[in-house]
Amino acid sequence: MLKRRPISVNTYSFTEAQKLAISHRNKPLIITGGPGSGKTTVLIEAAIARINEGQDPNSILVLTFGRERASELRDAIALRTSQTMLEPLARTFHALAHSILKAEGHNPILLSGPEQEGWIRQLVDGVEWPKELQAAIHTRGFTRELRDLMLRATERGWTPEDLEKNGQTYKEEFWIAASKFWKSYIGTLILADADHGEPKERLDSAQLVWRAAHVTRNAFKNQFKTILVDEFQESDKAQRALLENIATDDLVIALDQYSTVGRFRGADPDGLAEALAKFQAKGDAIQLSENFRASSAVHLFLEKVAGEFPKAPEIQSSSANNAGLVVAERFIDGANEAAFIADKLQRAHLERGLKWSEMAVIFRSPAQNSAVRSALMRYAIPVAGELQVLSENASIAPFLLLAESAIAGKLDLNTAEILLSSEFGGADSISLRRIRRELVTKYSGKTGLTGSELICQAIINGEYEIPSGASLSRVHLLFDIAERTAKKKSSQPEDLLWAIWSNAKNSDNELISEAWRKQALKGGVRGANADRDLDAMLQLFESARRFGQRFKRSDLAQFFKDIRKSEIAGDVITAKGQRPDVVELLTPFSAKGREWKLVVVAGVQEGIWPNLRIRGSLLGSERLAERDRNPDLAAIELELVAKAAVAVDELRLFYAAISRASQELIITAIDREEDQPSTYFDFAYEFCNPEVDLEAKPEICRADNLLSAANVVSKLRKDLLKNNSKEAAATLKALAEAGITGANPNDWYGIKPISSDQPAVADSQPIKVSPSGVEKFDECQLRWFLESHGGQDGNTTAQLIGTVIHKFAELAESSEVNLDSQIELLTANWKLVDPETGWISRTSMGRAVLMLKRFYKYRESMAGKRTFKESEASYKFNIGRALISCKIDRIETTVDGKLYIVDFKTGKSAISVEDAKTDAQMQIYQYAVGPDVAGASLVYLDHDLKGNKTRDQLPIDRKAVEARIERTAVMMGGKRYLAVKNSNCQFCNVATSCPIQIEGRGLYG
Ligand code: SF4
Repeated sequence: MLKRRPISVNTYSFTEAQKLAISHRNKPLIITGGPGSGKTTVLIEAAIARINEGQDPNSILVLTFGRERASELRDAIALRTSQTMLEPLARTFHALAHSILKAEGHNPILLSGPEQEGWIRQLVDGVEWPKELQAAIHTRGFTRELRDLMLRATERGWTPEDLEKNGQTYKEEFWIAASKFWKSYIGTLILADADHGEPKERLDSAQLVWRAAHVTRNAFKNQFKTILVDEFQESDKAQRALLENIATDDLVIALDQYSTVGRFRGADPDGLAEALAKFQAKGDAIQLSENFRASSAVHLFLEKVAGEFPKAPEIQSSSANNAGLVVAERFIDGANEAAFIADKLQRAHLERGLKWSEMAVIFRSPAQNSAVRSALMRYAIPVAGELQVLSENASIAPFLLLAESAIAGKLDLNTAEILLSSEFGGADSISLRRIRRELVTKYSGKTGLTGSELICQAIINGEYEIPSGASLSRVHLLFDIAERTAKKKSSQPEDLLWAIWSNAKNSDNELISEAWRKQALKGGVRGANADRDLDAMLQLFESARRFGQRFKRSDLAQFFKDIRKSEIAGDVITAKGQRPDVVELLTPFSAKGREWKLVVVAGVQEGIWPNLRIRGSLLGSERLAERDRNPDLAAIELELVAKAAVAVDELRLFYAAISRASQELIITAIDREEDQPSTYFDFAYEFCNPEVDLEAKPEICRADNLLSAANVVSKLRKDLLKNNSKEAAATLKALAEAGITGANPNDWYGIKPISSDQPAVADSQPIKVSPSGVEKFDECQLRWFLESHGGQDGNTTAQLIGTVIHKFAELAESSEVNLDSQIELLTANWKLVDPETGWISRTSMGRAVLMLKRFYKYRESMAGKRTFKESEASYKFNIGRALISCKIDRIETTVDGKLYIVDFKTGKSAISVEDAKTDAQMQIYQYAVGPDVAGASLVYLDHDLKGNKTRDQLPIDRKAVEARIERTAVMMGGKRYLAVKNSNCQFCNVATSCPIQIEGRGLYG
């Protein structure tokens, strides 16, 4: 696992205003200040100063928003004092509310967002929804809107009855339906805990805080002598009520209303003045007006953006000690934008020595980040993992599956195959088939079990020994450990997961935990994936730990059921001290309270940023918030107020995002017909390029000359090979020593001398030519050469089906069989063709039966036209140096006594009528049979046509065929094989060895 980094302690020289704020006592104090003005630092110092003066740290409470933020504040204070604290000094409002309720004898559980949405989805059918909503109620969007509506209502102290009454008063029909749902939801949550075997009170975040606020009216006043609140602008009504109930006179509140980023989560920046008035009346206010964070350029831009607020914030003065930079660039498409961003970060890292963790990319919404994430990974830039739904993480899934199977004490074939092909199984599809064959051959007779049953038994009991059984034994050992842990009465989900995780080994016999750790530390694309997987595993353990603490008596299976039910990603759980050196991709919300030297604000597009769509527009959670504030406004005016509020909110998000940069700020957007930069981008562009006329089309940036390791290595190699450059050679040597992929000449396959310049077949020798090979050779010589020298998969099921159908066609003419008996024979022995079970195998068998039927139909259709003469007729002959041996599926006799060639095809795709006229295989067959041939046909048996699909060829010109074969044979036995791009390249088995395909190019340097 990743180790915690030591946290550095900063030393500051404080301004007079800051000193005043730190030494302020015994009266409420409101500190306001823009980004980087040191509000949080002042709060930390205020706490430490009180402790140093002898105040008991347990009488100080620091409140903030977000678990990470609380953890950072705790660390920052703990590092400066040796005093012991009984409870965490810095907490979120939710953590405080939880501990208040527990202290009062309640047993609450805070429902996480995913859990709450899971409950909503389960209950949504229990209410009669208006017709207009019916189609939407099972969508994720509706679930989220419903959750938001209930949260916003709760935060404002509304009950389901209030929602219903307001729905009637304001003609919000959906609120009436939602209020009914809300009532049943609250009732069901109380009952639902029967599932977990013990009574608990499940509350959402807003209910939790309100409940605590009610409790504190009596008991909690004066519990804390000092309360310091950071980021107060993010608070909602419930949190303000709680604060009011517990606040003493020694209260310090820090805020910047222009940086509110959590309005969508209930933050109420518009109600700040009212909330602060009570404290202000008996206290003091201090404005911190210096920006210590931003460089001169960033500061100037911030001021310009701040001027756009309807009521502009106080101008800050800059304490910048560096000029910094603000850049705005537009791109032709997302790929160019992403490559440019990756290049900028790479250069900042390599040329200016910035750590990866000193850079971040901020998007308006997480859905925008995939192109940049891929570009960073391509550049081998370590990037923070993406939050995933746990059950959807492919690396985590086998661990969950193994745990569930161990709890159940049984396996089905599908699960067994997933486990065998997982990282701890290490099998691929070929070895799975081999395992099954070996088990069937050795044990099926003795035990009477099928292949599938044998595999499951081998994993559960570990009884069977076969030569290819390494994967089976690994999975069995792990299953055994997991099953024994699951059976222990005292086991919690965390114990079971740990038993699996700490024993899981890969096919190199290395612990998977160690393999992932090593991979994560190596960086690059695979390192980033390993990082993401480790994050997901941590998340899983954290969820298991929380579950174990909450439901001590619940059965193990319930935890895994809950994880499967969860459909959205949970919270980030790592604290700052554990953040690795990676670039983070964030939203303004997740970037809150943090800073980076270089910040890219990307995807500033029309319709995306600002996104002026009213939030929760279906059920009206935004209208609810505005309605609570403006009970007397007419509906149409309320809509306008809500729209204006959204516009200001978007500007606040942009302001908060750009204010995270301390040195350099890059703002990017795409500029093409269907995707235009937004007004925010234009604003930034104008700021950066005051001389450019925005009406005239501004220049669009293309990402070229990029500084990726692959690009640099490729340029140096070209320079070395073309110009014999000594500098290029020296740089490549240095890069190779630093472990840069592709820099070491040992990796340059293409630079090695040709191992032989002799022809593939010596001049004196005949050249073997197969009739089907000629056509392939004409299409692409390289593919023919590689495939006919081992570059082809072994027998696939499709090839085996082809062989079987040809054999059955032959038998149909030589023994006493009919269609029914052949179908019976085929289906009874299908296991020999495909030992797999399941629908894929059943579908293949169905296809084979259909082909057989079509063969019989073909025979019937020939009645009176041609008669059967011979099947599987063998020929061997020479044309020049070509030595040809072939077997012809079927030879028939026409009514006028001539011979006719038939070749059965079992593949899906047919050649064109035109191509059939010169098809080499039919030509060679006709040549082999002799001059008395009336023609040839390919008959396609796997084609969904009523009749048979055929491709026909007229009698050949034997001289022309001879010339063609001789010519082709000489080239087949020659020294060079051309790669020829063609329509079948997409299906080519050897594309990874092909110089004209990207995936094969590296092989040739
Ligand atoms: S990818 Fe295309 S050109 Fe390359 S070897 Fe395969 S068929 Fe030939």
